[in-house]
Amino acid sequence: MKLRIMAAHQHDTNCNEIWLYFQAVINWVKATFPEYRKEMKKGLEWGVLYNKYGAGKYDPKALEARVADLMQDEDISRYPGVYEYLLSGEDKATERVLSIRAFTPQAKRAAYERQKGVCPKCKEHFGISGMQADHITPWSRGGRTITENCQMLCDDCNRRKSNV
Ligand SMILES: [Zn+2]
Repeated sequence: MKLRIMAAHQHDTNCNEIWLYFQAVINWVKATFPEYRKEMKKGLEWGVLYNKYGAGKYDPKALEARVADLMQDEDISRYPGVYEYLLSGEDKATERVLSIRAFTPQAKRAAYERQKGVCPKCKEHFGISGMQADHITPWSRGGRTITENCQMLCDDCNRRKSNV
């Protein structure tokens, strides 16, 4: 298992101590997430996660079920974030590590009310069920999935936009 571990003790001269720390991190990861996935070595600082969450009590079986579940979620665009999200107890503030692509119903409703139900492309009025949420700054260019970056487009304009 090759994982990125940044040692908290990297300025210590005692190599044995660093080695023990690395072992502790690796053992903790293996015990907490026994199922190895390639996402585990993508840009995750396990040392940092260990320092933050290492003392917590986790049920590896329940975690594995959630990992398997979330790894299939199409709205998540950053799968390695799943590990930190689960360790945090699925904390709302940690949700950003998943980079979620889909707007919440609340964000859609807020955008709809802000536009007074008018599609910004064709200037026509629609019911909320006839509109789709769209990233004002495109997702592909780093636009975030937050209320401020949400606009509601009518089905036709949305289809036209996604075809270009
Ligand atoms: Zn329209």
